[in-house]
Amino acid sequence: MAVEEVFYKLYNNILIETNLQNTNYDAVVLIAYPEDLNVQLPRHIGSFLEKAAKVDKHITKAVTVWNCDYVSGGRLVISPTGKVTPYHDVSVVKQAAQKGVLRALEAGAKSPLVVVQSVVHFPDAQLVAVLGVLEALYTPLQMRERVAPKNFTKIGFHAEETLDEKFERIVRNAIALERARIITRDIGGSDPERMAPGKIVEYINNSFSGENNITVKVVDDENVIAEQYPLLAAVNRAATRVDRHKARVVEIEYKPSDLSRVIETLILVGKGVTYDTGGADIKIQGKMAGMARDKCGAAAVAGFLKACSILKPPHLKVIGVLCLCRNSVGSDSYVADELLVSSSGKTVRVTNTDAEGRLAMADALFKMSETAGKELNPHIYTIATLTGHARACYGNYVAAMDNHSARATNHSNKLQLSGSRVSEGVEVSVVRHEDLAINEGKCKGDDLVQYDTGAKARNHQLAAGFLIKVGGLEEKNLKYTHLDIAGAAGEAPSEPSAVPVLSLCHLHKVFM
Ligand SMILES: [Zn+2]
Repeated sequence: MAVEEVFYKLYNNILIETNLQNTNYDAVVLIAYPEDLNVQLPRHIGSFLEKAAKVDKHITKAVTVWNCDYVSGGRLVISPTGKVTPYHDVSVVKQAAQKGVLRALEAGAKSPLVVVQSVVHFPDAQLVAVLGVLEALYTPLQMRERVAPKNFTKIGFHAEETLDEKFERIVRNAIALERARIITRDIGGSDPERMAPGKIVEYINNSFSGENNITVKVVDDENVIAEQYPLLAAVNRAATRVDRHKARVVEIEYKPSDLSRVIETLILVGKGVTYDTGGADIKIQGKMAGMARDKCGAAAVAGFLKACSILKPPHLKVIGVLCLCRNSVGSDSYVADELLVSSSGKTVRVTNTDAEGRLAMADALFKMSETAGKELNPHIYTIATLTGHARACYGNYVAAMDNHSARATNHSNKLQLSGSRVSEGVEVSVVRHEDLAINEGKCKGDDLVQYDTGAKARNHQLAAGFLIKVGGLEEKNLKYTHLDIAGAAGEAPSEPSAVPVLSLCHLHKVFM
């Protein structure tokens, strides 16, 4: 049995319920929308809300709990979205759903029933609401491993339009997507020992065991890594003396049962730095705390593959590569000034050991750019918590950057649109000529410089420029999109956001 299923039983304790008075539930959660959105309310509840608003005007601003005889458990939790302006997006639905269900549990409910209304204004509001509820109930892996969580017994979802196939599909999709995101949060959010490279491999093998549409290949031999992934090996040099910290490259492949229906091959390379001390250029002044989250890119790749293995999109083949290593400090640390030779044959001059993410992914990216040539309609992604600059520019949103081929199809803009449907914000950045040029070697004979220490701006775009160059993607007519999730992945103490799993699943129609 897969690791996440032991604790979540997502199949048998998440139900669709048509009767708001069913005695199997002990509270009903209602998301309250502003009147001008014209969202339909369940019978009886409309008049109850009117009365409640007379008692407490604040019900449009804060979550409140009421005694209400019309609903299960005699308890109604009203969770308002607050005002919805043209600047708001569907995340107001997610937040209200989360607050509502958490408030119901605080009130003592164990089996809340959540009303999931359709909202013309937000076409995927029902999916987002269900996902929001499931996300709110997530218990971190290291907590689950100590004590089985008892925060809820079951959850019901009620749609006003009776029980129809569409709503059933929405709930089914949400459960599958949540199971995928649990993997992303588990890997991304666990501490650097629980999810050291060796432990991630164990977790992945567990999570995908028994999936007949998935194959997992692990490269863990030090010599093979040194030969095939020399830049990753350099980053990991100070960590190789500790077996569980040694670098690993994990390839997870999804193939549908009928390969003749495949129309696109997705290749995702994820940064999985299980801990980033900065290396010899060590992080100072408390900047190291939180660096266990530097594996969120690889975690998202694993989550996306899980979504594919459950939802079985017939039109996709997917190859995911997790570049797992640890940027430790020690007598064998790689240091600035070293001249490394990448698997493509290009030399890279090290300038700052804290810019390790681009090196960790470089050789895998090059290998995949070669592999892509043999695949049908390929699109390569890198997903990485790569630069503090992406966070400084865009806050908690994903920075998406296309190479010339992907840009010709407006790919990042399409991803942005998909993200907006499922409550994941994506900002589009443009990789320009100078973002490539700045990565050219400065010393005589050097091909590339790891990072131009004189760069004053555009750090997240020039990191994309480095990846394009080192991955051999500059001249090739091959679609490539780099996603910098440094700001979007979620900072401790919050749980990882599991971005961009939903946006990618929406864009590539992993669920319908
Ligand atoms: Zn770093």
